[in-house]
Amino acid sequence: MKLIRYGRKGLEKPGLVDAQGHVRDLMGVLPDINATTLMPESLARLAKLPAEALPVVPEPGRIGVPWSGCGKFVGVGLNYADHAAESGLPVPAEPVLFMKTTSSMMGCNDPVVLPQGSLKSDWEVELGVVIGSKARYVDEANALSCVAGYCVVNDLSEREYQLERGGQWDKGKGCDTFGPVGPWLVTRDEVPDPQSLALWLELNGRRIQNGSTRTMVFGVATLVSYISRFMTLYPGDLITTGTPPGVGLGHKPPLYLKPGDEMRLGIDGLGEQRQRVFAWDQALIDE
Ligand code: ZN
Repeated sequence: MKLIRYGRKGLEKPGLVDAQGHVRDLMGVLPDINATTLMPESLARLAKLPAEALPVVPEPGRIGVPWSGCGKFVGVGLNYADHAAESGLPVPAEPVLFMKTTSSMMGCNDPVVLPQGSLKSDWEVELGVVIGSKARYVDEANALSCVAGYCVVNDLSEREYQLERGGQWDKGKGCDTFGPVGPWLVTRDEVPDPQSLALWLELNGRRIQNGSTRTMVFGVATLVSYISRFMTLYPGDLITTGTPPGVGLGHKPPLYLKPGDEMRLGIDGLGEQRQRVFAWDQALIDE
């Protein structure tokens, strides 16, 4: 299943995308897609619905984050060896974790707003893993059974705030609009192998990131198991699993986002995102 939420920010309606790519209205079935919806029993119930019997939404308009109620948004750093190399950092012996704010999450095509004074804002196409069952000290063999599904994430990062301002990476990772998610949450049954997905990003029409989840240092099952040793993962939590090479920081000279730029990014089977970049005083974030 491809779950989607559409409509104005804060007023999104639940839907699913059928095999023909049409959005079908789930309003008659449930009020919203939230963390509870992502639990196995609830997904199993939804999967039994005959999609063709649900009303088609002719013009869904804006697409929101595909579920509400994400309790935490965990980032994994340097999880592709070639990206670690372009960042001038060693491949880590254990997964590098950081937290992105849940307030950075936004719809897949919403405007990206550069924070005030930002000169080094950068892109990162990533596979997002959405938790569907509580995971605490889960072993690798059972880790994927805790996953509800997958989505595209752009892990936008302000490199100066992340790397040059002292302390943790979080300063450069949690800015408003720095976490586009979606367009869909694709349930796990439709992604039999999360380690064989192509992922890519284009900046102003130029392909700039091209990779495969095959070259992750730590795969999805390892990451879910590993993170669950440090914090309990709950339904609705989101893990973004690191980016392949091609980020702005790795260019010589470095290349960063400026107002007017457009990013397009996607992952096999998980859909595409498209964001236009605005200066901090150019766009109203809450609209
Ligand atoms: Zn990242």
